[in-house]
Amino acid sequence: MKLLVTGGAGFIGSEFVRQAVKKGYDVAVVDILTYAGDLERLREVIDKITFYKVDIRNYSELQQVFEREKPECVIHFAAESHVDRSLLQPKAFIQTNIEGTLNLLELSKNFKIKRFINISTDEVYGELGDTGKFTEESPLKPNSPYSVSKAAQDMLGRAYFRSYGLPVITVRPSNNYGPWQYPEKLIPLVIAKALKDEPIPIYGTGQNVREWFYVSDCVEAILVILEKGKPGEVYNISSETEKRNIEVVKAILKLLGKPECLIEFVVDRPGHDYRYALDSSKIKRALGWSTKVDFETGLSLTVEWYFNHMDWLEKKVEELRDFWLKVYKK
Ligand code: NAD
Repeated sequence: MKLLVTGGAGFIGSEFVRQAVKKGYDVAVVDILTYAGDLERLREVIDKITFYKVDIRNYSELQQVFEREKPECVIHFAAESHVDRSLLQPKAFIQTNIEGTLNLLELSKNFKIKRFINISTDEVYGELGDTGKFTEESPLKPNSPYSVSKAAQDMLGRAYFRSYGLPVITVRPSNNYGPWQYPEKLIPLVIAKALKDEPIPIYGTGQNVREWFYVSDCVEAILVILEKGKPGEVYNISSETEKRNIEVVKAILKLLGKPECLIEFVVDRPGHDYRYALDSSKIKRALGWSTKVDFETGLSLTVEWYFNHMDWLEKKVEELRDFWLKVYKK
């Protein structure tokens, strides 16, 4: 079966491409390779896929890809994905996450795609206090330009299902971690800083709670949804393992044998959501999926992977430093 994967050179998208190729799918990837995209992640499968350096905001170039590839399913990962950047450059998020998604939905309708898997996020539901979980029926109350753009993406998917019968399925994963994640996200950032014995900046008091989800488990869930999910439905997917940021940081320091005095609390992110937690019983009940990698195992695999890929990590940290230097100079 021919799959068109957008954002396939990103962190989760590349794990999807690697697993899909292993399962025997015929895969074409569309990715513009922003700072977050990297073909290195696809090195082991690059000879088995077709890669298009195309921007999802460019309708006519996307149309040519659809004409050439004639995909049966679209799995849409491409996005501007970092909350801090959305606070700085919200327009890029509106253009890629909303307008880019609209282009893909329109082409998927015209080319009679059999399944459109819309990769959303738990952040569309907004924040929780100390108790409760979001179900697929919870109202959407997004709080950052990133989560607003993702909620709008979901609503467009809903409209294309309801109005045109396009078989859209929306997937809402919780916070992913694992190999190849860009070090602006918490876990690789902490590993990068700790390995260099540099201060580790933690927002506020580090009490925010996230549900940590190992990337290979997330992708297995997406593949199950691709194969067995019901069009028009939304599926929450998560590990149901909640951790405060400070607990995650201390666990990494322990694994690396580094002191907790490296932790430095910094001014909190504006509008920082306190807690996200998903009820992911629907996919377990309806599709028989479950997680395989617990947090302790996933974290040690991740730390080990970065330890063995220091060159890649350092290159990305340098790029990131240049980006923020330019921002502060303005
Ligand atoms: P990522 O930032 O690592 O990768 C995004 C990819 O999209 C990159 O390869 C980038 O080059 C590409 N891209 C960006 N703009 C593009 C454009 N205009 N045209 C074509 N390609 C473009 O993101 P990720 O962490 O792999 O997340 C993948 C998806 O999962 C996103 O939709 C994100 O919102 C969602 N998500 C991520 C997490 C997480 O914890 N990482 C959690 C929940 C949901």
